[in-house]
Amino acid sequence: MEFRFASDVEAFRSEVREFLDETLTDEFRNDPELVQEGGFSREFTRRLGQRGWLTLAWPEEYGGQARSHFEQLAYNEEMARSGAPGRAHMMAVSLVGPSIMLHGNDAQRAEYLPKIAAGEICFCQGFSEPGAGSDLAGLQLRATRDGDEYVVTGQKIWTSDAHRADFCWLGTRTDPDAPKHRGISTLILDMSSQGLSVHPLLSMGDHHHFNEFFLEEVRVPAENRVGQEDRGWYYMTTTLDFERSGAAAFVAATQSLERTGRYFSEERPGGERDGDAQRRGDLADLIIAATAGRWVSYRVVWLQSQNRVPNYESSMSKLFGATLSTKIANLGVRVAGLYGQLTPASARAPLDGRIEDAYIWGAAAGIRGGTNEIQRNIIATRGLGLPRG
Ligand SMILES: Cc1cc2nc3c(=O)[nH]c(=O)nc-3n(C[C@H](O)[C@H](O)[C@H](O)COP(=O)(O)OP(=O)(O)OC[C@H]3O[C@@H](n4cnc5c(N)ncnc54)[C@H](O)[C@@H]3O)c2cc1C
Repeated sequence: MEFRFASDVEAFRSEVREFLDETLTDEFRNDPELVQEGGFSREFTRRLGQRGWLTLAWPEEYGGQARSHFEQLAYNEEMARSGAPGRAHMMAVSLVGPSIMLHGNDAQRAEYLPKIAAGEICFCQGFSEPGAGSDLAGLQLRATRDGDEYVVTGQKIWTSDAHRADFCWLGTRTDPDAPKHRGISTLILDMSSQGLSVHPLLSMGDHHHFNEFFLEEVRVPAENRVGQEDRGWYYMTTTLDFERSGAAAFVAATQSLERTGRYFSEERPGGERDGDAQRRGDLADLIIAATAGRWVSYRVVWLQSQNRVPNYESSMSKLFGATLSTKIANLGVRVAGLYGQLTPASARAPLDGRIEDAYIWGAAAGIRGGTNEIQRNIIATRGLGLPRG
């Protein structure tokens, strides 16, 4: 049996691939003015915005192109294949925009949606707190109404790109006496507000990706509240029917495995080609897993294309992708030996230091966006119908 995408999907994939190959030259990627640490690029985001591709999946009435789920899939796969910088627009396009569309008012739609679509503004996501991560509804950042403003005091943590974002999509507690899923409101916080201080948290790979930030009586206009007061939990968990299959992770996994395979065949700096049967077998197993993972992710897209809402299937894809990336990183370190611990800064680092980078970052895949344990809980309860623990 051979599966194929429809010809219009493949035509769009080629268009995207051509654009990415032309735009993401080494010169572009290596210019620190254009692409910042970790793949954050306002310039690239603006270029996608000019083509209308940031909002490919948005409805036409909000400036989107209403493309099919399979076209979105092809686009996401090509972005992953080229290692395109996507962080500057991800939150705004996939989280904030859809929430404003569904729950915002006309003034908010007119203010934010065109700027998001054009790639002019970027958002961070202010959900996690020191005492609220997996149990997000336990958040404590306090917002008290004072006339036509909210006064906000407290702390957020692990906020990716808070040091670069223009705005934050902020979860706050507006009614401390209500049951925890109620009494939460969502505000759009201007990151240049007075009383706000952002501090870097360096990852174990020494990257500045996320931050903690503190708010001391920060005044946020009440008109920046999206949706009704105390109903924010529902807006924080809003997902529109956009492509979220996790397919991009499997494209990246396949590419890493292909690189590792090529490295297997090369002469080692101090020795011979790798003839270790165990490692070769492990590589083959992971290639099979990456292929199976792609089909798991395509099932999510197929469900969406049938107007069905993926549930535990998305968790399967997320969990499978996260554990696979960890296994690939571990194999890379075993294949490269001590050289695998060299950072990208070292000229002797194999595969441009990607092995060390993947190993260090591998840990994050099983935490961000819902930990592996939380995904397993969803699969167990919603997928297998097991009782809650
Ligand atoms: C790279 C990265 C980027 C991030 N970016 C952002 C961001 O931009 N904005 C933001 O708000 N947050 C962000 N986060 C934070 C992330 O959402 C949280 O780390 C995550 O939700 C887990 O929360 P926690 O760290 O508080 O751990 P906890 O929830 O305290 O979990 C600790 C451990 O207990 C386990 N556990 C918890 N509850 C259960 C349960 N019910 N059953 C079984 N096991 C359980 C977890 O799996 C984990 O192993 C980011 C995290 C990472 C790693």
